[in-house]
Amino acid sequence: MKAVCPKCKKPGYGIYVRWAKDRKHRYYYFQHYEKGRIRWCYIPRKIAKQLIEEKKLPIIIEKIKNELHKKVGTIKYKCECGKITEYLDLILTGGKCPKCGTVLLKFSCCLT
Ligand SMILES: [Zn+2]
Ligand SMILES: [Zn+2]
Repeated sequence: MKAVCPKCKKPGYGIYVRWAKDRKHRYYYFQHYEKGRIRWCYIPRKIAKQLIEEKKLPIIIEKIKNELHKKVGTIKYKCECGKITEYLDLILTGGKCPKCGTVLLKFSCCLT
């Protein structure tokens, strides 16, 4: 646990960034891990940017995602359970299959 969520004030891992489908807008989420499950708080952009600029919160995947998207487009992973997940979604689930929870990818956590 590295940071405190600006929304619910509980500890968590930090802010994640997700691009909207139009690739122009970004959404910010704070990741929590509670009772064995990942939970997200939506963080208003203004607050997120402020915190990131002040480096109070680690920002995690934005760069990787952008780079990756430029280079390879969308990568998909197929789980044993049959669920197909996009790479970008795996980042948000921490590398786990959203259906059955099997770890499909391991990420080296934060880029702080
Ligand atoms: Zn929260
Ligand atoms: Zn699965």
